[in-house]
Amino acid sequence: MKGNMRRGERPELMWGLGLTEAQKEQIENAVGPGFFLRNFPEGKLPWNKELNQAERPSATWIPMKVWKQISDNRKDEYKRLEETQRILIQDEQDEPVEMEQVLEQGFLTVVTSPLTRRKVQDAVFRAKEVTSMYSDIYRMTEEIMLERELLARKTDQLLFLNRILTVCTESLDPAIILANAKENLNMLLPVYEMHAVFWHHHEATGFTDVEMFLDRKADAKQENEWVETLMDCAERMGGGAIGGFQMTHIDPLNRPAMGTAERHGRVVTMPLSAGNAHFGSLVLTVDSEVRMGKDEVETFKAAASHLGLALRNALTFKEVKLRADHDALTRIYNRHTFDDRLVYELKRRQRYGHELSLLMVDLDHFKGVNDTYGHKAGDMVLKEMGTILRKALRSTDLAARYGGEEFVVLLPHTTEKDAHMLAERIRSRVEATVFSSEGVQFSVTASIGVASIESGCLSRDEDLLLKADKALYEAKNNGRNMVVVSKIHETVQQARQ
Ligand code: GH3
Ligand code: MG
Ligand code: MG
Repeated sequence: MKGNMRRGERPELMWGLGLTEAQKEQIENAVGPGFFLRNFPEGKLPWNKELNQAERPSATWIPMKVWKQISDNRKDEYKRLEETQRILIQDEQDEPVEMEQVLEQGFLTVVTSPLTRRKVQDAVFRAKEVTSMYSDIYRMTEEIMLERELLARKTDQLLFLNRILTVCTESLDPAIILANAKENLNMLLPVYEMHAVFWHHHEATGFTDVEMFLDRKADAKQENEWVETLMDCAERMGGGAIGGFQMTHIDPLNRPAMGTAERHGRVVTMPLSAGNAHFGSLVLTVDSEVRMGKDEVETFKAAASHLGLALRNALTFKEVKLRADHDALTRIYNRHTFDDRLVYELKRRQRYGHELSLLMVDLDHFKGVNDTYGHKAGDMVLKEMGTILRKALRSTDLAARYGGEEFVVLLPHTTEKDAHMLAERIRSRVEATVFSSEGVQFSVTASIGVASIESGCLSRDEDLLLKADKALYEAKNNGRNMVVVSKIHETVQQARQ
């Protein structure tokens, strides 16, 4: 072994516990300059300081005489040094020991005096072998642990994907899907905020309609910034100037943001697509400290694609529902929706006792409009009626096409007086609107019947529609282009009798 150490290499450390000068010399001569043998005299065996230092001896030589005198607790400490192989030296005068006993004590081997070069080298060689075996096992264990960790990570990711898939398909409301998705994305990385934008490009007009979902109500400035970002995203990726936009808040409970001020995360944009077409994007702010592994990024992308499909379905459903609820020509609600809503509002009124009013609007001599200017012109008038009604109402009001050229307007929390005023406004707007068909200008008029249930009034609910209809009939009879309130109509009737 002599001379096999390269220059600049540190010699390998060995310990001797209470070796005699002769033993020390014999070992040193046998192993050569590649090793440094540090011998501790019997009274000063290595303890805390030496046991805790980073460099551990590869082998420790211990004469049996010395070993016998070491206390049990100290022996245990030496046994605990796993990377150190202990070699027992047996003197001629020592009583012979069984190999079994030696191994039991945790020694690698026993070498009998005299310590010939061959015996020493042999023991050191074996110590080296065992040490390298140990390090192999150690490395393998580490690898197994790593595999295990990777497996656990894969399992987590599968679990995550499974959850996302489940929650995505649990609802057809985009806002709920987004809220659930956010909660689950948190399993993979901390998401502070999640906003979404969807766009629909109309080839015919060249405009892009935008629908935005904002995480929760933030202060106006912050919200504006997000709206800008999302609009920007839609304009860049949607391929056209923005025609109209709609905004919804995702968090239905509208919980306040938790300490947003100190949480300025990284903004991550996740495009949503179905097939090759991008139809939207998620914009997230995430913990800027977190770095995702490549596998996690892939999982995240897979989640985004599931989410994309689910959201596309939800938006399509919303669109279909809109078509089912609305009248295609006038783009206000249809009779079916009105009937449902009337039942609901009547129940609510019964419970809370507030006012409820109803307008019934019918265009005058509309048959004549069709006959004179054509059916298409008639349609144009009906369409404009939709616009006039929509513009005149509050968000809690409901306007619907009741049939042909007849419309109804349901006004919760509205007194008869206010309903009358609104009816009058609608009537005069209709009268003032000028239509033109093939160069010919014309206008139309409408008759309106108003019926109300006053607050606290116990009148029978089903009368409302009937009363409005009667009032309308009266308006027609009295010359059209007018508003008749059902109470007045009753008074008129009484006066006539
Ligand atoms: P009145 O003043 O008594 O209400 O007379 P009117 O002509 O409006 O009433 P009538 O009920 O006799 O005629 C209604 C007309 O509305 C008949 C129908 O052709 C027309 N109409 C109904 N639905 C539509 C529609 O979708 N488009 C067009 N262009 N016309 C429609
Ligand atoms: Mg009519
Ligand atoms: Mg009619």
